[in-house]
Amino acid sequence: MRHAVALGTLLTASLFSQSFYLPSEAVPRKQTVQLTVDPARETFEGSVSIDVELKAPASIVWLNAKNLPISSAFIAQGESVRPAKVIPSSDERIGIDGGRPLEGPATIRIAYQGRLDDKALSGPYRRKFEGEWYAYTTFAPIEARRVFPCFDEPRFKTPWDISIRIKREHKAFSNGRELSETEESNGWKLVKFATTEPLPAEMVAFAVGPFDVYDGGIAGHGTPVQVITAKGHAAEGHAAAQATAAILPRLEAYTGIPYAFGKLDHLALPAGAFGAVENPGLITYRTRNLLVPPNQETATFTRALRSLQAHEIGHQWFGNLVTQASWDDVWLSEGFATWISAKMMDQEEPPERVHLAAIAARERIMAVDNPARSRPVRTAINSRDTARDVYNRVVYEKGAAILLMLEGWLGEDRFRNGLRAYLKEHRFGNATTDDLAAALGAVSGNDPSRVLNTFLNTTGVPELRGQLLCDRVSAPRLRVTKSSPGSVPVCWRANRVPSSCTVLEGPSTEIALPTGTACPAWFYLNSGGTGYYRTRWSQAPTQALSELSGAERLTLVYDLRASKNASAQAALARLTSDADPQIASAARDALK
Ligand SMILES: [Zn+2]
Repeated sequence: MRHAVALGTLLTASLFSQSFYLPSEAVPRKQTVQLTVDPARETFEGSVSIDVELKAPASIVWLNAKNLPISSAFIAQGESVRPAKVIPSSDERIGIDGGRPLEGPATIRIAYQGRLDDKALSGPYRRKFEGEWYAYTTFAPIEARRVFPCFDEPRFKTPWDISIRIKREHKAFSNGRELSETEESNGWKLVKFATTEPLPAEMVAFAVGPFDVYDGGIAGHGTPVQVITAKGHAAEGHAAAQATAAILPRLEAYTGIPYAFGKLDHLALPAGAFGAVENPGLITYRTRNLLVPPNQETATFTRALRSLQAHEIGHQWFGNLVTQASWDDVWLSEGFATWISAKMMDQEEPPERVHLAAIAARERIMAVDNPARSRPVRTAINSRDTARDVYNRVVYEKGAAILLMLEGWLGEDRFRNGLRAYLKEHRFGNATTDDLAAALGAVSGNDPSRVLNTFLNTTGVPELRGQLLCDRVSAPRLRVTKSSPGSVPVCWRANRVPSSCTVLEGPSTEIALPTGTACPAWFYLNSGGTGYYRTRWSQAPTQALSELSGAERLTLVYDLRASKNASAQAALARLTSDADPQIASAARDALK
């Protein structure tokens, strides 16, 4: 629904953006790709066969394609196969013109040539490493069109049938497991891969070259794991396989859904545009993030590797099983992967350290979250230029901080159940922020739409102030004021008053304390430390210090940092000797 609106604005916006999204009459149902790839050569040959469904009569089917010289194109419908004209449009797409209007199912067949770039790190590219050539791919968000004509948008998810003709001495990998290898003449062989689950074009991946493989055995609910390295480096994959054995079962347990993509290969890239890319079945990583000689494995390296894998494998549910319907909602992929990685890594921490890593990350993004230095999490992507900003860090870090807040507000169990319902309902399909809100609302009884709208679509960190109102006439109340418009869920607690949450709408809200409560000695405005806001303290809650959790004390340190009043300085001075070294160190920094 939301995508249709974005498209409407887009069509009137400018001629350039008009060509960025494909029209909606033709929908792909299955994409079959055959490539001939020798990494030692700069060019490769390809042919695609795309089953489409034309929902309305159209004589031209538009596809994304970039720098792919086409040698032939046909449209087949029923018994009839006709040559088609290829209409070059922008740099980003071509039209396949069948000469007369088509409706219903049809198949488009295109033969073409492409280039393996040896400078770029996106699209299909090749690199020479230790004297051998290798071919790799990185498509997200819009470079799949450099390897095959396709429907290169996240809303178009289809099964992919991929086969690659390679030199006899090479190996090839793709998203699906290898089905067969057939010898051909002149030193070639054809490798066929299993049909994938529905994937957007940007998550298709392959690699060709004289690779070695570290067999990582079976992880979680029966997923075979391999680490794929350059020739002679297989032993360096040991730590990566161990990390998957630890992480995959945690994600399966949290989501309640077994890993859905058959096999899981981790592939090392000598150079990469990103630290890692979550292609289902074939996750790619910069070599230094994935491989380590067995005698050089350190606790710091394996921890960083588990955290990275928790992000990438987390995407197999958030991003791959359920894909954002448009790039505007890419936080449903990146915000979730960032949040769930911290959550999975918290399982290695003692209870008093839970959320500390996420709160420190939140602090870093809060420091830049204002209109002058940042952008909202959700923003319109409508050109190659704006697509460069798809993976802005605010999408990851603020997206994750918003999820931490939702979990704190709705409750850990209800939040997990809402996510499980969301994943189940949109399994192998697409979803929007509204779909997420609907699933969370149904399970928790609290509709988070207005809160999501406030935090996803605007910049800035709300500031809250609290005041206990205790007089002889009425029962004690907590007055909370906030600095900016929008809906902010605040969770609070006080001396002998357990935590509860309220969504602040207006500038000032008075919350009645439970009946019979005497005026409490202290209150704390961010219980659990999960809220995405600053609490401004005119008087630091010194009496609360011994009662606050680690997450609450760290949040307090960050909130007091800007305050120069004596009580804030005194509280920070006490926190410099906190039992937790991270909190003590943050307090020392705050006093500098
Ligand atoms: Zn990611």
